Amino acid sequence: MTFRATILTLYPEMFPGPLGVSLAGRALGEGAWACETVQIRDFAADKHRTVDDTPAGGGAGMVLKVDVLARAIDHARTANPAAPVLAMTPRGKPLTQERVRELAAGPGVTILCGRFEGFDERIFAGREVEEVSIGDVILSGGEVAALVLLDACIRLIPGVMGAASSGVEESFENGLLEYPHYTRPNEWEGRTIPEVLRSGDHAKIAAWRQSQAEIDTRLRRPDLWERHCGARVQPASGARRKDEGK
Ligand code: SAH
Repeated sequence: MTFRATILTLYPEMFPGPLGVSLAGRALGEGAWACETVQIRDFAADKHRTVDDTPAGGGAGMVLKVDVLARAIDHARTANPAAPVLAMTPRGKPLTQERVRELAAGPGVTILCGRFEGFDERIFAGREVEEVSIGDVILSGGEVAALVLLDACIRLIPGVMGAASSGVEESFENGLLEYPHYTRPNEWEGRTIPEVLRSGDHAKIAAWRQSQAEIDTRLRRPDLWERHCGARVQPASGARRKDEGK
């Protein structure tokens, strides 16, 4: 099955961009995923092909027009009906590896890229659109955010990455940051690779990696650590709740 990405944008020339090289580029060439763009401007109604207008209530910048967006979305939905429609916006739900994994297992995605001040809010009431943020930063447009989302999905498509296992141990896959990595030389500027990693004792190495992952997550990402600890106690209470319902 080909993962079909349809990108609604004012700058179609930005795709596949960096996803045309390396692993994603090879996968694109091999047909593991497809990249189609839709020019939002093609759905403007006037002879000037206007896609934006001044914000109601005043203020700086321009807002993407809801009627133009709706026509572009409706077109994309007809072209790729099985794919969920995602809109890139800092007001959206922060993207997670869990959501990326779900999307990568599906038929593809249609991605709406904003520009200027963003979208007329009514588009989210009028069309089924999932609002997605790639983090608490402001980009100049949704295209780079779409590339981030697509890159994360494409590397999970079966056959895209070399070793099938290399997607499984990554940071976030088990709710923790990954353990730190080292490679030769064994000594660099007086710093050596942790002794345990050279011991050849696989059980000891696995235990060290697990404890490093836990320590680093606790220190660097208290938010993830809290969720991880919560998730570990949850299955029991979840089971109890299920039993209570019987
Ligand atoms: N005025 C908006 C920001 C607009 S930035 C606000 O303050 O919320 C212009 C466009 O860039 C947005 O419409 C969106 O498509 C994209 N964008 C910017 N930051 C983003 C982020 N963190 N995640 C996803 N998309 C983003």
